[in-house]
Amino acid sequence: SQTVYHFGGNADHSDPRQKDKTITGGKGANLAEMASIGLPVPPGFTITTEECLRYLDLGGDFPEDVRNAVAKGVAHVEQTVGKTLGDAADPLLVSVRSGAAVSMPGMMDTVLNLGLNDETVQGLAKTSGDARFAWDSYRRFIQMYSDVVLGIDHGLFEEALEIMREDNGFYSDTEMEAQHWEALTREYLKIVENEQDKPFPQDVDAQLWGAIRAVFDSWDSERAKIYRRLNDIPHDLGTAVNVQAMVFGNMGDSSATGVAFTRDPSTGENVFYGEWLVNAQGEDVVAGIRTPQYLTRARREEAGADKPSMEEAMPDAYGELARVFDLLEKHYKDMQDIEFTVQQGQLFLLQTRTGKRTAKAALKMAVDMVEEGLIDEKTAILRIDPMALDQLLHPTLDPDAPRDVLTSGLPASPGAASGKIALDADTAEQWANRGDAVILVRVETSPEDIHGMHAAKGILTARGGMTSHAAVVARGMGRPCVSGASGVSIDRQERTLRIGSAELAEGDVITLDGGNGQVMRGQVPTIEPELAGDFARVMEWADKARRMGVRTNAETPEDCKAARSFGAEGIGLCRTEHMFFDADRIMAVREMILAEREDGRRAALAKLLPEQRSDFEAIFEEMAGLPCTIRLLDPPLHEFLPSGDGDFAELAEATGMDTKRLKRRVAELHEFNPMLGHRGCRLGITYPEIYEMQARAIFEAVCAVQKKTGEAPLPEVMIPLVATKRELEILRALVNRVAEKVFEEQGTRVEYLVGTMIELPRAALMAGEIAEEARFFSFGTNDLTQTTLGLSRDDAGRFLNTYVDRGIFARDPFVSLDIDGVGQLVEIAAERGRETRGDIKLGICGEHGGDPASIAFCEKVGLDYVSASPFRVPIARLAAAQAAL
Ligand code: ADP
Ligand code: MG
Ligand code: MG
Repeated sequence: SQTVYHFGGNADHSDPRQKDKTITGGKGANLAEMASIGLPVPPGFTITTEECLRYLDLGGDFPEDVRNAVAKGVAHVEQTVGKTLGDAADPLLVSVRSGAAVSMPGMMDTVLNLGLNDETVQGLAKTSGDARFAWDSYRRFIQMYSDVVLGIDHGLFEEALEIMREDNGFYSDTEMEAQHWEALTREYLKIVENEQDKPFPQDVDAQLWGAIRAVFDSWDSERAKIYRRLNDIPHDLGTAVNVQAMVFGNMGDSSATGVAFTRDPSTGENVFYGEWLVNAQGEDVVAGIRTPQYLTRARREEAGADKPSMEEAMPDAYGELARVFDLLEKHYKDMQDIEFTVQQGQLFLLQTRTGKRTAKAALKMAVDMVEEGLIDEKTAILRIDPMALDQLLHPTLDPDAPRDVLTSGLPASPGAASGKIALDADTAEQWANRGDAVILVRVETSPEDIHGMHAAKGILTARGGMTSHAAVVARGMGRPCVSGASGVSIDRQERTLRIGSAELAEGDVITLDGGNGQVMRGQVPTIEPELAGDFARVMEWADKARRMGVRTNAETPEDCKAARSFGAEGIGLCRTEHMFFDADRIMAVREMILAEREDGRRAALAKLLPEQRSDFEAIFEEMAGLPCTIRLLDPPLHEFLPSGDGDFAELAEATGMDTKRLKRRVAELHEFNPMLGHRGCRLGITYPEIYEMQARAIFEAVCAVQKKTGEAPLPEVMIPLVATKRELEILRALVNRVAEKVFEEQGTRVEYLVGTMIELPRAALMAGEIAEEARFFSFGTNDLTQTTLGLSRDDAGRFLNTYVDRGIFARDPFVSLDIDGVGQLVEIAAERGRETRGDIKLGICGEHGGDPASIAFCEKVGLDYVSASPFRVPIARLAAAQAAL
């Protein structure tokens, strides 16, 4: 197949490979596309991404066939333009541009004006009749080529330009005359010769091949690799090279260059948006050398700017551009981001691509385009990145407000929050109770901090990654979180801390931006999320399109309320243990755990019963009429135990046991591997009174809500960590027994289900048998991932990055389900469960329930619902719709 594709002029654009971004890159494919629909694109050719990989494979060498194909490409451009590369009298100039399948900042920069040398510059001056333009182009070329191809520090050139300006007392580049640019060019040539001990390459062929090599080499550059890793881009795509005839925006005042969007990328409004510069070349607009001007008159007037808009200054070229915008939108059926140049009044297009946009703009454009009849609802749904909705679900910082950034860490959970620094969970809770907004700042968090995290508006940790305890819990709670901010150091004794170079004390106000990881001094104003309008419309379409239900993981009435307002159709996971950490319970919980005999445990549980019951009542009232999966106690008991001396003293007083005995009891309970230890249904088997109390609390609460409101939810009692049918058999009988007793006492009955979590490989394999005892399965994919991979979520942070870097895992398996491995177990369990019980309810409740790729997998397996944390519910609704389409 072809290694080089021509575009523009009378090139043949019919080979479908030429419009395939994976072959010709985004830039190359779209240049060919634009040329083939008759838009004014300067002619050129594209060397394919395949040749990039071959070149790198060969250790930086070009096979004969590629050399020949490039020569033919050059000939195509020369014939179309009617000029020859290196012709001293009338030279052709080209740009050499990189372009991968996905746009990748961090790759090689473009080289413009290639083909100039000491001779051709004279020819260009003569044919253009503009020596100033010719020398300006040559000095630009030397600077760019030296920077990107020869690796010479561009600062040297900028310095020389600065000196030239100062010597002549010029304020701006526009004051420079031909002789100044010429003198500067000679200066530049000297710099190059000094730096590399040989003159700047005068041979145009050598220039061209040097630039092509630099583009290909840049694929393997460190910064490109890092960018790919951060953005989940595979390393084996390669980049294409585009060589294209130059058009000149720097040929005087009837020439210009600019970038434009066919709609406003930040609001989504259907108005042209862009910037342009008179008498300039491409990179000037973005480089900020001169302040660009507004594209449209309306914008200029709105901004009160006095330099004319393009609409006013170049009405003809602008009219042409507006026509092109329309054409491109109709052709691509999406908002386009365009680069253009006007050469002496004539418009040329240099690039088009689907424009990046904010989530808000994405929704507005989708709704508008459906109304305009440009796209259908299905396309609209598929076009919106579910994860981007996150931006809209949390209050965000006012983009116009000033920020005093102290340090930054990982953007662990999106959203923005301001509040007083609290250095421990209890303080956070106390201050929150008296009505203060609090930011919990910890070295790292543990399950003991949950109440403080809940009370806080945001969480900042000095250590820990994107899947650290703080990050996972914060995302679950919808709290903004910045984790692993190594610029934070805490002095617990003095109750002070340093953030970056600032000295702060507990109680000082800071602001977190969980979307980019910034930590700021003081309060930065926020704006509230808006879930009406376009957002609601798109969600409506998504709900029509999806098959799976969407539930939420929630354990407080507030979470339930938030989740319902986001469209949750039930609770997929209510973790009862989180209710045990509250300050007013933890004592009774500890008493229960540390009791040496059953009667002691029962006494402590009796104190917990009313608390737990009222928790459930509050939740059930929010969830009337909806299914609620409630998981009985799951974590290893040691998570609840006291650690500090103060804790022990307090506990000794409450239990009447002496501190020594308490400490001994705690030591007895120590486990080497608690995650595989005495937890989940194993607690229910050995201490049935715990599950009895919980079941009683659930049923009493349902009955109470039923009586009070006439509408109860459907409780689904879920037994965790089951490995065998017999475990479930015993515990189901226990739940049924309690239910009957409560119904009798209350003189009423409610419907309920008993089922299990599938989170052990054995349970997945034995699902056929287990289904005899289970009315539903909920895939606990957090633990199922841990137990299948033998990988501890709490410890994997140390090496997971390396694993992802080395391509062992494509993504963090705790964030996105390991479909090949863990997914297989889910599939087996679903299949075998259904064989036994045709109407078994199947759902997923791990973190993966809010991850679009994992949701797509759930659709494939035919699960009945996914469950996600409240703030991920809209994401899950959209992702479920996309999966169904
Ligand atoms: P990037 O991917 O960084 O945008 P580009 O290859 O698109 O790099 O080029 C950078 C700038 O140079 C753009 O503004 C583009 O319009 C301009 N440019 C590229 N090729 C040409 C050309 N043949 N004639 C005029 N300007 C060009
Ligand atoms: Mg570009
Ligand atoms: Mg679990």
